[in-house]
Amino acid sequence: MSDDGPRPGGGAPGPSALVAQDFAAKDFADGELERLLLAAQDDLTLLCAEDTTILYASPSSVGLLGYKPEEAIGRSFTEFIHPDDLAMLAAEWERYLELSDKDPVQFRARRRDGSCGWYEAHASRVDDPRLPGCSCINMREVEHLRLLHARIAEAEARAKIGSWRWIMKGGEPEWTASMYRILGYEPSDKPFDLEWALNLTHPDDRDAFRDCLLDCLENPKSFTVPTRKLASDGEYRHIIQHCYVERDLNGDVVALIGICQDVTAQAEAEAALRKSESEYRMLADEASDVILRVNASGCCTFASPACKSTLGYSPQEITGKAILRFVEPSDHAALNYVYQNALKGTEAQRVTFHGAHKYGHTVWLEAGVRAIMDEAGKLSELIIVARDITERRQYEEGLRHARERAEAANLTKSKFLANMSHELRTPLNAVIGFSDIMREEMFGPVGSDQYSEYVQLIHESGQYLLELINDILDMSKIEAGKYELFLEDIDLSGMIESCLRIVETRARTNGVTLEWSTEDGLPDVPADERALKQIFLNLLSNAIKFSEDGGKVSVTAKTLGESVFVRVNDTGCGIPAHAIPRLAKPFEQAMTNASQAQTGTGLGLALVKSFVELHGGKFAIESVEGEGTTVTFTLPLAGAFHKKSA
Ligand code: ADP
Repeated sequence: MSDDGPRPGGGAPGPSALVAQDFAAKDFADGELERLLLAAQDDLTLLCAEDTTILYASPSSVGLLGYKPEEAIGRSFTEFIHPDDLAMLAAEWERYLELSDKDPVQFRARRRDGSCGWYEAHASRVDDPRLPGCSCINMREVEHLRLLHARIAEAEARAKIGSWRWIMKGGEPEWTASMYRILGYEPSDKPFDLEWALNLTHPDDRDAFRDCLLDCLENPKSFTVPTRKLASDGEYRHIIQHCYVERDLNGDVVALIGICQDVTAQAEAEAALRKSESEYRMLADEASDVILRVNASGCCTFASPACKSTLGYSPQEITGKAILRFVEPSDHAALNYVYQNALKGTEAQRVTFHGAHKYGHTVWLEAGVRAIMDEAGKLSELIIVARDITERRQYEEGLRHARERAEAANLTKSKFLANMSHELRTPLNAVIGFSDIMREEMFGPVGSDQYSEYVQLIHESGQYLLELINDILDMSKIEAGKYELFLEDIDLSGMIESCLRIVETRARTNGVTLEWSTEDGLPDVPADERALKQIFLNLLSNAIKFSEDGGKVSVTAKTLGESVFVRVNDTGCGIPAHAIPRLAKPFEQAMTNASQAQTGTGLGLALVKSFVELHGGKFAIESVEGEGTTVTFTLPLAGAFHKKSA
C-alpha cells in the first residue's frame, strides 16, 4: 500500500483502504467478482433462452419481484408479464432485441405476492456463441417515476402548461405531450414538423416570435413573448412563452427551453373587462348626468365630464376633493342621511339637494346614491349619479304658483258669483214680480196699451235675465264641484210631457211639430228633478230654435241595460262636423246660423252634458249639417251615479 497513490473520493484513506495498484481481479475465483457486483446492484438482470425461459436471475430478483433467483430460473419470462402488456411486448420483442440504439420498454409485471407494478426493461441479444439465441434483460422498477410523471402531467394539464426543447447543435425543437395537449393535438396524429409548428403562430405574432428566437440565438438570454397559436379546433389560443437558455457545465448553450402557458381564459377575460371598461367610460363620458365615484372617506375618485356643464367644475377640479365641498351646507345633513341609508342596502337611495356651482349660484340636483361594499361588508365606495333638475324645479315652482293663483282666482270668482246671485236676483225678482202684478193689472188698469206692452217686455226680459243668471250660477257651481244633486224617483214620461208643454207655444210659433214616445213600463229614474227638467228644456229649446218652419222635433226614451236611453232629434239646420267636438263646453257656439246663435249664450249644452255626467250618464251629439241633430243621453237606473259632483 502506498501513501501517494490515487485516492478515489479524495478523503483520507482508512486503515483497510484498497488502492488500484493493489487490486487484482485474478485474486477472485472465476466469475466471483461478477457475481459480487451483480448481487450489489438494484436492477434485476435476467438471462433468457430463445424461448424466454429464464436461465439466470440476479439476486436483486428477490427485492424487485419477490422471487429468489432459483424460483425464477426455469420459468418463462412471459409468466411475469401482466396479461394486458404481453401482446404488445410479444409483437415487438424480437425486433426490439435487434435494435442498436433503443429506449427502455415499459410494462407491468406481477410480483410474487400477487401485486403488479410498473417496470422498465432494457434488453438485447447476448453476443456470445456459447449462448445462442439468448437475451439479457435489465429490469428496474419505475412505479415512482411513472407516478411522478403522471403528477407532473396532471399539474401541467391543470395549469395548461406545455413545453418544448430545442437542442442547438443541429437538432429540431421537440414538443412534449403537454405542449400538444394545450393546443388540442395528438402527438401520434401529428409528428412534429418545424414548419407546421411555426405556422401555428398567428400571422400577426410570427415576426415578433421569430425575432425573439433569432435574438436569443445570437445573444443567448431568456425572454418571454405572448403569442397566439392555432389550436386543433380552429381557434387561436393565447400562449405566453417563457424561453430559457440551457447551458452545459462549461457555460455553452446546449438548448433552448420553452415553457408555454395557455392564458386564453385570462386574455379573454381581460379583453372583456377592457371592452366593458371602455364602454362604461364612453357611457360616463357621453352621459348628461354627472357620475361620481366617492371613496369611503368621502373623497371623489372619479367625476364624469358632465360635471362641467352642471356644476361649472372640470372632472379634474372635483377629483380628489371632499364631495361635500360641492353641496350647499344646508343640504349636508340630508345627504348624510341618504349615505347612512345607502350603507344599509343595495338599493340606490334617491335624494334632491342643492349643488354649489363654481360661479356662486346653486343648482338643484336629483341623485341616486348606491353603496358598493367590499368582501368584508365594509363600504368600498359610493356611486352617485346626479342630474340637474333646476329647470324642472323652476317649472314646478311656476306651476305651483300658477295653480295657487288660479285657485285663489277661482275662489274669488265663486265668491263673486255667489254675491252676484244674491245682488242680481233680489232686484230681478222685484222687477219680475212687480211687472207681473202690473201685467195682470192686479191693482187696477195700466191705462195705456203701450204701457201694457212695455210691462210685458219688462217681465219677459226679467225672466230671461234670471234664467241666464241661474245658468251661469249652475255652471260655476258644477265647475267648482259644488253642485249638489237631490235625487228622487222621477217618472220620465211625465217629465217629458210637462217639458213639451212648456215649449209647445214656442214650437207652434216656429211652425215646428213636436212628437214623443216612451217605452211601455219605463221605470222611474233616480234623478234631480230640477236638473233633469233643465236637461229636457235646454235640448228641446235648441231643437226648436235651430229648426225651420215645418220642421219636426221628436223625443224618445227607453231602457237600455242598466240605464234609460233618451234621444232628442230634430230636422233642423244641423251642426258642421268640425264644430261638434267643441260644443257642450261653456260659451261654445257652432255659429251655423248667426242670428239664431245670437239669441243664446252657449251654456245650454254644457249644462246638459254636466248634469248628465253628474248623474253618472253619458252624453253624445250626432248631427248632419242641413239634415238635423240628434242629442242622446243615458241615465243610470241605479248605483252608478254620483250624488254630488266630484
Ligand atoms: P245656446 O244658448 O247658444 O243655444 P247651447 O250650448 O245650447 O247654447 O248650444 C251651443 C251651440 O250648439 C248653439 O249655439 C248651436 O250653434 C249649436 N246647437 C245646439 N243644439 C243644436 C241643434 N239642435 N241644432 C243645431 N245646432 C245646435
